[in-house]
Amino acid sequence: MIRDIVTIGHPVLREATRRITADELSTPAVQQLIDDLIDTMRNANGAGIAANQIGEPLRITVIEVNDNPRYPYKPRIPLTVVVNPVIEPIDDETVVINEGCLSVPNLRGDVSRNVNVRVRYLDRDGVPHDEIMRGLTAGTFQHECDHLDGTLFVDRVTDTRTLTTWEQFERFHRAAFIERITAFVERVGS
Ligand code: ZN
Repeated sequence: MIRDIVTIGHPVLREATRRITADELSTPAVQQLIDDLIDTMRNANGAGIAANQIGEPLRITVIEVNDNPRYPYKPRIPLTVVVNPVIEPIDDETVVINEGCLSVPNLRGDVSRNVNVRVRYLDRDGVPHDEIMRGLTAGTFQHECDHLDGTLFVDRVTDTRTLTTWEQFERFHRAAFIERITAFVERVGS
């Protein structure tokens, strides 16, 4: 079921979410919540969505990138259900990514992200995963894990002069960003 997306200013986006137990994960209610996250993300053309973005303060996020009209330069990410994630950088390499967010309507801005991260999480069946993510894919995981800690991308915009509406991004910033980020994706491979 497609759910309403909570927007910036709602306190649920500013609270750390709660880890869930293996028993909770297997309940119909939580499995339904995961399905709702997937439906809501796809309906909004998001690259990911966190449970608190639909008002549920649980440590669950879903991520998927196909041919995404919001972010056409992002490499594909298969549908990934991420429960109780722990994310950590594995080195100091960073990249500046122009980000947007379903909970911050019509705004984008430049954020520095780690290029290489380790992510440990459970999938929807409770199976543990321990994976290395790189490049824009690592950026997407960092954005979604930030949500689960009550952090929004705007908190990480250090140069507020990079803030732009989607319309002005298209007009004035898209070409340069696409050129830079496409070269980055080719170098990093994701
Ligand atoms: Zn977001």
